[in-house]
Amino acid sequence: MGRTVVTTSIPYVNGTPHIGHALELVQADVLARHRRQRGDEVWAQTGTDDNALKNVRSAEAEGIPVADYVARMADRFVALGEGLDLSFDDFVRTSTDSRHRPVVERLWRACERSGDLYRKSYTGLYCVGCESFVEGDCPEHEEKPELVSEDNWFFRLSRYQDRLVELIGTDVVEIVPATRKREVLAFIAGGLGDFSVSRSVSRARGWGIPVPGDPGQVIYVWFDALVNYLTGAGDRWHDSERVHVIGKGIIRFHAVYWPAMLLSAGLELPSRVLVHEYLTANGRKIGKSLGNTADPLGVATQFGSDALRWWLLSDVARTGDTDYSDDRLETRLNEDLANNLGNLVNRTVAMVRKYRDGVVPVVQQRNPAAENLRAARREAAGAIDTALRAFDFRRAVEAVLRIGDEANRFVQVTKPWQLNRNSAELDAVLAELVAACRDIAEHLTPFLPAAARRIAEQCGGAVVPAPSPVFPRSVRPRP
Ligand SMILES: [Zn+2]
Repeated sequence: MGRTVVTTSIPYVNGTPHIGHALELVQADVLARHRRQRGDEVWAQTGTDDNALKNVRSAEAEGIPVADYVARMADRFVALGEGLDLSFDDFVRTSTDSRHRPVVERLWRACERSGDLYRKSYTGLYCVGCESFVEGDCPEHEEKPELVSEDNWFFRLSRYQDRLVELIGTDVVEIVPATRKREVLAFIAGGLGDFSVSRSVSRARGWGIPVPGDPGQVIYVWFDALVNYLTGAGDRWHDSERVHVIGKGIIRFHAVYWPAMLLSAGLELPSRVLVHEYLTANGRKIGKSLGNTADPLGVATQFGSDALRWWLLSDVARTGDTDYSDDRLETRLNEDLANNLGNLVNRTVAMVRKYRDGVVPVVQQRNPAAENLRAARREAAGAIDTALRAFDFRRAVEAVLRIGDEANRFVQVTKPWQLNRNSAELDAVLAELVAACRDIAEHLTPFLPAAARRIAEQCGGAVVPAPSPVFPRSVRPRP
């Protein structure tokens, strides 16, 4: 039995949650549930980055205290837990979690002891969206970077260049997919400059964690936010596989800055950094400024958390951005869930009721037509393990769909309604189908926990109840 820590990045809270947040939360949740199902001791955590400068600005724009503002906004991210059927063990709020500040201070002191922190004055273009210095315009944010000039603490990132190349190149810190690993290695090869890890209290409006021993400075928000992983994981950090799920826009912070900070402090490095692409919504970039968020709670309320989770897992590409629309979600809901898996469960339960008074027959005869179905069932667990190891959710859920496809084909080939009612052959066909439904429930558990429970309730026992649709078809009126 292994131990695993799974994290999401912690979003800053100056906007409401959008469908891109839902993607990362569901991905991390699936990885956590899958490892739990395989017997690992899992710690899954998410949270909010409360101390970001942009939170301060948004609070100022509303004219309310920053603490009130971030509390209100963080609640909306907490609410996703129930709405998306998430199973996180911990939610770290960096401004109010009493565990967090001492951990940040300890890491700071450890890097200081290693001689990796020093003060210098600096002038550069700063993107508030990234909370980072940038060269020219920021590719991620539309807002113009601002010219910032101040005397700050710096971290000696340059010192870690060779070690980072070695650790990432040899997958000690494994970056998935491989295209992102190459991107990080190319970035490091371009040369690593030291980066600023504090800012003046006045620029931070007094918000954030003060630099230990230098109260005029506040710890740079990334140095603070990244540490949330240690805050939540605690001692588990040291003896677990440490898995970060992040978006492509913050890969540099997670695959370069963060390992360097941990190396400096003498702490264990992330084992795996899993990088997802972005979502657009209805053909447009998701952004607060554009008012285009595809509110995940709204989608989950309209279509169900299963349908939203399924779309995020089955239709989002591993490379390149994917566009969300209600139509796309509805297509996957109807084709994969209602027509394939749901229909299989429904017809199986209905036939066991009709032909065997609801009593699930015990297999007495092996049907040669079941070979493909049995292969799909046999191979599903391994296929799911391999796909999730490769951070490929589409391939993972395909293994479940394949059981549904083969089982539905088995029904068409064997035509149970034409078999002799009292035959052992009909017993065998029905038993085969119930076994397939039970396997689907089991394999679906990490992906769609609620639907998996509904299938198990109908097919898990010795007697089946009256059938009820596991996935009602969506029949949304078209404009
Ligand atoms: Zn930016």
